Amino acid sequence: MLTVMKFGGSSMASPEAFRRVANIIASTEGNKVVVVSAVAGVTNFLVGAAGEKNIDYKGVLKTFSEKHLEIAEQLFDEKQIVKFLEEFKVRMETFEKALRGDRTDPYYMDAISSSGERFSSLILAHLLISMGEDSVALTSAAAGIRSAGLPLSGYADLKRTKADVNMKVRPMLEQGIIPVITGFYGMNADDRPLTFGRGGSDYSGAVIANALKADELQIWTDVDGFMSADPRLVTDAVPIKEMNYGEAAELAYFGAKVLHPRTIEPARQRHVPVRVKNTFNPESPGTFIHHLRGPQNGMLMSVAAKTDLSIITISSAEIAYRPRIVARIIEKFAENNVIIYSISTSLSTVAFLLHNNDVQQILNQLNNLIEKDIEKINVKSDVALVCCVGDDLLSKCGVSGDIFSVVKEVGTNVEMISEGASDSSLNFVVPMEMLVSTVRALHAQFVRE
Ligand code: ASP
Ligand code: MG
Repeated sequence: MLTVMKFGGSSMASPEAFRRVANIIASTEGNKVVVVSAVAGVTNFLVGAAGEKNIDYKGVLKTFSEKHLEIAEQLFDEKQIVKFLEEFKVRMETFEKALRGDRTDPYYMDAISSSGERFSSLILAHLLISMGEDSVALTSAAAGIRSAGLPLSGYADLKRTKADVNMKVRPMLEQGIIPVITGFYGMNADDRPLTFGRGGSDYSGAVIANALKADELQIWTDVDGFMSADPRLVTDAVPIKEMNYGEAAELAYFGAKVLHPRTIEPARQRHVPVRVKNTFNPESPGTFIHHLRGPQNGMLMSVAAKTDLSIITISSAEIAYRPRIVARIIEKFAENNVIIYSISTSLSTVAFLLHNNDVQQILNQLNNLIEKDIEKINVKSDVALVCCVGDDLLSKCGVSGDIFSVVKEVGTNVEMISEGASDSSLNFVVPMEMLVSTVRALHAQFVRE
């Protein structure tokens, strides 16, 4: 039995939290590989520090080092701390070199923001050693996590990672060692750290689980798994016990902030079941995600919501007959790495759903397109996406009729619809002020325990 166990920042926010995590690991049977995020708050601190106009190098190094030493000092006895400090110093030197490095380098922010993981992993490995376990802290480089893509939004090169991780990590497992690996980044083709986007260490866990074809991937976080709705919006939301990969992927992507949205795919590829668990409530069963569908009593498993979105509508006569213009518009999104949450077209318009923060950038780019190609651009900001997730929605007759009749009762005006792209979800856009009432009504009607 091989379990990959990933722990998030809030699971490692204090010495007590580290102890809790180490106990969970020690009491898990079989071989284990641990993947960690940074100590809570550390990544935000690093992103802020590295983004300053004038970096206070000494101040940053001091705050960063003290943050980790304070935790280590409370966890380790004198003998253990001496061993810990040896490795700590080496890692601090690497960090200092990176921090003082060339700030115009496109991968500078990746190198700095991923530094927290190199210290949380070190603390946890030493804590396991102090408890009599055999453990070693591995950086993504030492573990063989390979990445590709653009700065701050990389993805794993699964093929190379599989080869490298099996060469570097597998032999340790055979000796009974518990590797504690840095999440959040992999080494790119130039051997530079490249991060997987904020919250990316869940994805790192899945990448390792994929490489080793683990028997289970456990994501340990601070909630009891996926819920049937955001409990802040719907007070009687219930935990989801079981889901299939498709449902979980849609839900993670479109709303529920439980998992990094790319986590499911590497697990699904090799049929590794995923269990989302709460570090602070380990008794709770959490959510189990696998290739079979879970029991679902109502028509929907969950109603998620994604807020702070905008619709950009581009009008031009008979645009539908001029696919090249559409291609050039989409190219602008791609060049700027802007995610499109939905697209809808008609004879003379194309509408895109994107995050509020990306609107200005895209508008600037679109203005560079030849004027005669585009007649009018309209922006509707502050809309939200309602994402109805359930098994096999597409093939069931009357699903959209049922959903929209509830939406009509609430009096919500639907601004955009996306159905048919995935068989696990039906999504539509509503004005922000109608979001809560719409989600509540759908949840009350279609999600049943
Ligand atoms: N520490 C990184 C972040 O805060 C990665 C993660 O938490 O998964 O984004
Ligand atoms: Mg984090």
